[in-house]
Amino acid sequence: MADAKPKIKKPRGRARLLEGKCIACGARCQSVCPVDCVDMSDAGEPIIRGEKCIGCSKCIKICPAAALELSFTPEEQRLLDELAKAAVGKPQEEVAEDKADSLTEMLQRYRGVWVFVEQTDGEPARVSWELLGVGKRLAQKLGVELCSMVIGENVEGLCQESFRYGAQKSYRVDAPVYRTYRTEAYLAATCHLIARYKPEVILMGATGMGRDLAGAVATRVATGLTADCTGLDIDDKRNLMQTRPAFGGNIMATIMCDKFRPQMATVRPNVMPMPERDEKATGAILHEDFAVPETDVLTKVLEIVRDSKDHSHVDIAAAEFIVSGGRGLMSPENFAILKALADELGGVVGASRSAVDAGWMPHDRQVGQTGRTVRPKIYIACGISGAIQHLVGMQDSDIIIAINRDRNAPIFEVATYGIVGDLFKVVPALTQAVREAKQRRKA
Ligand code: FAD
Repeated sequence: MADAKPKIKKPRGRARLLEGKCIACGARCQSVCPVDCVDMSDAGEPIIRGEKCIGCSKCIKICPAAALELSFTPEEQRLLDELAKAAVGKPQEEVAEDKADSLTEMLQRYRGVWVFVEQTDGEPARVSWELLGVGKRLAQKLGVELCSMVIGENVEGLCQESFRYGAQKSYRVDAPVYRTYRTEAYLAATCHLIARYKPEVILMGATGMGRDLAGAVATRVATGLTADCTGLDIDDKRNLMQTRPAFGGNIMATIMCDKFRPQMATVRPNVMPMPERDEKATGAILHEDFAVPETDVLTKVLEIVRDSKDHSHVDIAAAEFIVSGGRGLMSPENFAILKALADELGGVVGASRSAVDAGWMPHDRQVGQTGRTVRPKIYIACGISGAIQHLVGMQDSDIIIAINRDRNAPIFEVATYGIVGDLFKVVPALTQAVREAKQRRKA
């Protein structure tokens, strides 16, 4: 048997700045460096600490001015030449194996499931806790820690609160510059934490803030992001299986990001169940002293204007009872019969997209893929056929009651109780029955 030749390790080199080419783009190279070896000069140019650089090339790839390159010592260069010669005629499988080795090494450096705790004025977004619920399951499957990432000003309380919903550790970046959400500041803080602690999975709410931050971070650290996931799981190779509707909701696609880390996903509010709150749970807070200089943040918040004057705005996602109407309602005036039932139940009126497109109801009432995702105790669908794009927004309701005159309507496939009949007779009869039941209870 022939002796196996010792494998020559391919030198990785070190990043080097090419003189006169840097355009001081805003420290992109520094933010992607996984080993923190890039300092910035006063002129905004990178100073690379060669002894720490691992030659991962991330800074080179992200540089918009091609101002960085890999450099090798003469000895490393000799080895590279030798390897290049040996590669000529080398079977393709062996070349692929070499590449796979370095990919596996890179993937192994990333560990942990992180959830971004979104907050406005210190008020947490409920979706963050929902994500900790699903994150706990993922972390258990991976055998890693579940961590929260909290950015803001005076946010220690939120770190503590995240422990009550399942986080074991909390990464806190706390400084006045993070008082109100601004993409540049939160982006820099998140990229800093990623570079330093290398999480394997990052989950964010598919809210205005979450969507904005997740997209910016994924672009900056050059990884994949799946938006609006409806299902999350782990495969046997530690990949995050991210399921979401695709092709207009006609199929459910499972997307994986198997060659880049971290794996990033956003999930809409109400898609994942709310975990139990454990009052006594505690964990470790890791305070990261990282404050972006205010002068580096180009966006300035001059005034926060709240749209509290709009009294007609209703948050259907927070409602416990929803009576929704579709094209079967025939006209906007007919929504009054749904309103009467919703009022008796202490709920709100929702709508299908057809009803919204027809101008019968405002867009903030739309349930479904391009509207809100809801998870009420009772969802009553009136004159709604049950298209997949509607179902993805309400199918996780505790109880679904469907009223439709077509017994073959797809809505009956997800309904807990189905009533085949004319909604104009059934809904007023239901309203009357609820009213009488309430009166009986009072008497
Ligand atoms: P129809 O499909 O026309 O159904 C009306 C139903 O009313 C029928 O089943 C009928 O039998 C019943 N009916 C009629 N009269 C009565 C009566 N008197 N009593 C009882 N029943 C009666 N849709 C959404 O809802 N939300 C979304 O977010 C959404 N996003 C979309 C995104 C994309 C990319 C696409 C392509 C589509 C999307 N849609 C969405 C549209 C969706 O495909 C359907 O067209 C829509 O949900 C149908 O609305 P509907 O059920 O009210 O109307």
